[in-house]
Formats: sequence, structure tokens, C-alpha cells
Amino acid sequence: MKRLSLLLDQIDGRSYKAYKELKGVYNFGICALSIDHVQGDPYAAPSRISITVPPEISTFPAHLWDGPIRKRALEDYLGRAISRTIKASVKGRRGTGKSGQVSIASGGQQVLARNAVNISSMGVEARITVALPADGRRILGKEAQEIFFNELPLVINKGLLIENLDLEKIKFHIESIEDQDFLRKRLAEESLVAFVADNSLLPRRTGIDDRPLEKDALPFKSPESLAKKMILPNRGEVRGMAIPEGVTLVVGGGFHGKSTLLHALEKGIYNHIPGDGRELVVTDPTAVKVRAEDGRSITGVDISPFIDNLPFHGDTVNFSTENASGSTSQAANIIEALQADSKLLLIDEDTSATNFMIRDERMQALIAGHREPITPFIHRVRELYEYQGVSTVIVMGGCGDYFDVSDHVIMMDTYEPLDVTEKAHRIAASVSKSLPPVKLLPIGKMKGRTLPIERLSARRGKKDVNIDSPDVETLLFGEHRIDLSAVEQLVHEDQTRTIGLLIHYYAQKYALQNIGLREGLELALKDVEENGLDVLSPWKVGNLALPRLHEVAAAINRIRVRG
Ligand code: ADP
Ligand code: MG
Repeated sequence: MKRLSLLLDQIDGRSYKAYKELKGVYNFGICALSIDHVQGDPYAAPSRISITVPPEISTFPAHLWDGPIRKRALEDYLGRAISRTIKASVKGRRGTGKSGQVSIASGGQQVLARNAVNISSMGVEARITVALPADGRRILGKEAQEIFFNELPLVINKGLLIENLDLEKIKFHIESIEDQDFLRKRLAEESLVAFVADNSLLPRRTGIDDRPLEKDALPFKSPESLAKKMILPNRGEVRGMAIPEGVTLVVGGGFHGKSTLLHALEKGIYNHIPGDGRELVVTDPTAVKVRAEDGRSITGVDISPFIDNLPFHGDTVNFSTENASGSTSQAANIIEALQADSKLLLIDEDTSATNFMIRDERMQALIAGHREPITPFIHRVRELYEYQGVSTVIVMGGCGDYFDVSDHVIMMDTYEPLDVTEKAHRIAASVSKSLPPVKLLPIGKMKGRTLPIERLSARRGKKDVNIDSPDVETLLFGEHRIDLSAVEQLVHEDQTRTIGLLIHYYAQKYALQNIGLREGLELALKDVEENGLDVLSPWKVGNLALPRLHEVAAAINRIRVRG
């Protein structure tokens, strides 16, 4: 501590480069503070600091972090606690550029596996960033003293020492997350693809604000016929709507809450923080939202189950384009989801290509089967379930043709779900069916994408590794700018960044051993599961959050062959 103070005195007023001398470990009494990386100038990415509180100072009882779920939940809680104390105790602006800003990677409504806080028998470590203060390029030593000796000790005291934390709240957080995880694991055993507990709050504040709608949100209530009771380890019995495997249709008038339900199911692959409203909305962990995404690039995907005989194009068994249409992109998105072993597809009419979803009788009568290259999804959805075990939940308010192929039909009526299966099936039986125009060849087993290794190079110009995520939907990887805006289940830019590192890790470690993409990515994710996110980075960083295999594959599938 004294040493750091002396150093700061010495470099006060000198040029920014002198901050480099701070790199090292300092004893702060209640913790060790390690300055791991010093930024080059006040505008650069902030300096990285890790703080370790040893077990003699603060110990979390073992039952709060035994097992991977509890450990992740406790780390998540502590990350948020530190983030809150930073907001309360750190001034922030102390000069040029980002000078004075302190932050920790945390937050959002989902509980992700992160590396910002790490708890082990060695103690608890928090990784924060500090923008070292300067006036222009001149070091502001006094301001830095304020940060290191007034602000950070407060942050550590209030955010990391067990005696200053609310144990009841911690316990509640952990138990809630444990229940969510348990419930999700129960789905497969019960032959369900999703469960939405009564009293869940599904609507969000706005399209870009993932927090719960505060006013006038109608709590969810399952119709009796679909209701199921589940026993959770901490909370005990909960009742909710159980969506069985198969084909489930969500119908209802416009603005009645259909898409809101589907969005909640999309995010049901994650655990949520208490108070989110979606804590007990859980979905099959392999669920993939598939949508139309015109303009995306497609490389070597067999979309022939949905599209063949393209005029002037020919090959849809090994289909590539730099500019896909609505229907070809949606077909590719489905095939790629199957390649990543998804067992549940989530589809919303709002984001689908109509000609991909349906073709009604009149249109069939007008256009002979062999002239229409598209086999709409309606003719494939049952086969997917019956022969491949892939279920689908489809939101479709505008077309009743899907009644024929659905096992369950849920109507959203002023935000309230009603089971209208029988009625829908009666209606379907009373009118002629829309049959597939020709006999279809079955969908074969899907092979994953292979890529020449140079396409997976993270190099850009002089930089060996260029990986960054300016926002959740953009991954900068080597020369590529990968657009992930249609990969809707990504929730945080730290996941996007980690996708980049996972691709790089795969390329460096497994591609060179000629291990295929799918298997190699699985191995990479296994390495992370066993040894933590730190295996992905040569530097000590705290801004990584784990994505699923599906989203990593989605990013690779969107790498353009040209440009
Ligand atoms: P649909 O897809 O049926 O057209 P949406 O799901 O888009 O309808 O919902 C329409 C609006 O209703 C949205 O603004 C949404 O936030 C709101 N909403 C949805 N569910 C609820 C609910 N349970 N309580 C209050 N508002 C809701
Ligand atoms: Mg909608």
C-alpha cells in the first residue's frame, strides 16, 4: 500500500507512460491488489486490476458455493454487489477521456458463467477495470491516490466482505438459481420442452430494456388442461403451463401477447436474477430461435429439404450465397440449428418469411408443385418431430393451416393463455387439408460446416489477434465483422467477445490437429467447463461470459467467404 502511494507520488505530473511502473502486486491488508495491465493512454481500454480477499479475512461458507451452479450464482451475486458499490462510492470523472471510471463486468437480467468474480479455496477474486486518471497525457497522481486508497477499499469492503453483505439475500439468489436449473433439467425427464410458472411476468419494459414491465403487467396463469405441478428443491411446489414435446401453436389476435410469450421461451435457456419475472420460465437448453434473415451469407448448407429447383441456381444441397433471401435464410437457419443438435425450434410469424411458413390451397392450385422451389415449413414440421425428435413452438396468428399439424394450440387472449386445441382440431377436420404438393424425401442427418483454416484466422494486419465486440450483435474477428443481430438468444456483448475467443481457441488448438468444427468446439467448451474461461485468454481479463455452442456455431456460419 505504502509502496503504491510512493510510486504515485513519484509519477505525479509525469507523462502517461510512467503509469506502466505500477504493474505489480500490492498488499492492502484486507486484500491483495494486483495491477495486471496498464492502459497506454487515457482514451484506451481501461487498466485491469484484480483484487483477492484471502480466506482469513472473509470466508463464504462452503454450502454457498459447493457445486458449479451455486458457485456461479454466488459469483454472480458478488459481481452485482461490487457493481452497486462502485456506483455508490466511485466518483467516476477525474480528468481526460475515461479518467476515473471504475467498473466490473456484471449485470443484465441473466445469470451467466463469467470470470469477473472467482471464488475458490484461495479466497475470492474480483477483476475490475480502472481508467487511470490524467489531464491530457499528464498523470494525475492525487486523483489516482483517491481511487486506490479511498474508493477501492470502500468498494471491496461493502461489495466483497461477507460481514457487510446480506446473507439472506445471497441465499435467496443462490436458491432461486438452483431451482431454475433444476426445473430446466426436469423438462426432458417429463417429456416437456418448456415450463412457464404461474405468476411469471413476461412483458419487458421496452424492446431494448430487458427489465420487467413495471406497471400493469398481467401475471401468467396456466390453463387447467396444460397445468402441471413441479416440486423444486428450495421453493417447493409450483404450478405452471407445461409445453409437451411435439408441435405447439400459439395463436391469438394482434397485440395479445404471443410474441412476448415466445421471447420469454427464447430466454428460458438462461437462469434469471430474482425479481426478473422469468425465474421460472424455463426452456429446453438446446432451444434455438429461428427466423428469416435476408442478406446473410450462407456457405455450403444443404437447404434442399426446404428449397430445391431454384431457377438458374441449381444446387441447394450445397447452397452458398452472399445475400440470402427471406426463405433461403430461414431454411439455412433451421438446418444449422439441427446441425447444432437443437431439440426445440422457436418460430414467430413476425420474423418469418411467409412463403417459407405456408402456401395456401389457392396458391397451390395456381402454381404447380414442380415450379415452386419452396417446401413450406408446415410440410416438414411433423416429420421433424416424429423422425428427428425436434419439437417446434410456432407463433402464428394469421393462418389456420397449422391447426392440422399441431399437437397443442394455445390462444393468447388479452395476455391470458387458453387451451384451444380441441376447437382448432375440430375446425381443421371440417375443412380439406393442405397436403404437400409432392412426396417429400426425408430430411437426412445434417453435417456441420467445414471451413478452411485461413477463414478462422484472428489476424488483422499487424495484429495477431483482433477480437472484440463493440456490442452484443457485432463480433470483430480478424478481418471479419460478423453480424449477429439475428442471433436473438445472445444477451451480452461479453458472450459475443467470448465467441470470438472460442473460435480462435478452436483454430489454434483443435483445427490444427484436423479435428472438425463441431467436435472441436465441443472440446473447447469442455475445456472451459473444466478449467474456466481463463483458458481462452493469455491475459488476465474479467469481461468474458459463456455462450452456448449454438451461438458459437451461429457466428461461424455467418463468416463471409468474401469481404
Ligand atoms: P402479439 O405478438 O400477440 O401481437 P405482443 O407479444 O407483441 O403481442 O404484445 C403486445 C404488447 O402487450 C407488448 O407491448 C407487450 O409488452 C404487452 N404485453 C404482453 N404480455 C403482457 C402482459 N402479460 N401484461 C401486460 N402487458 C403485456
Ligand atoms: Mg407478435
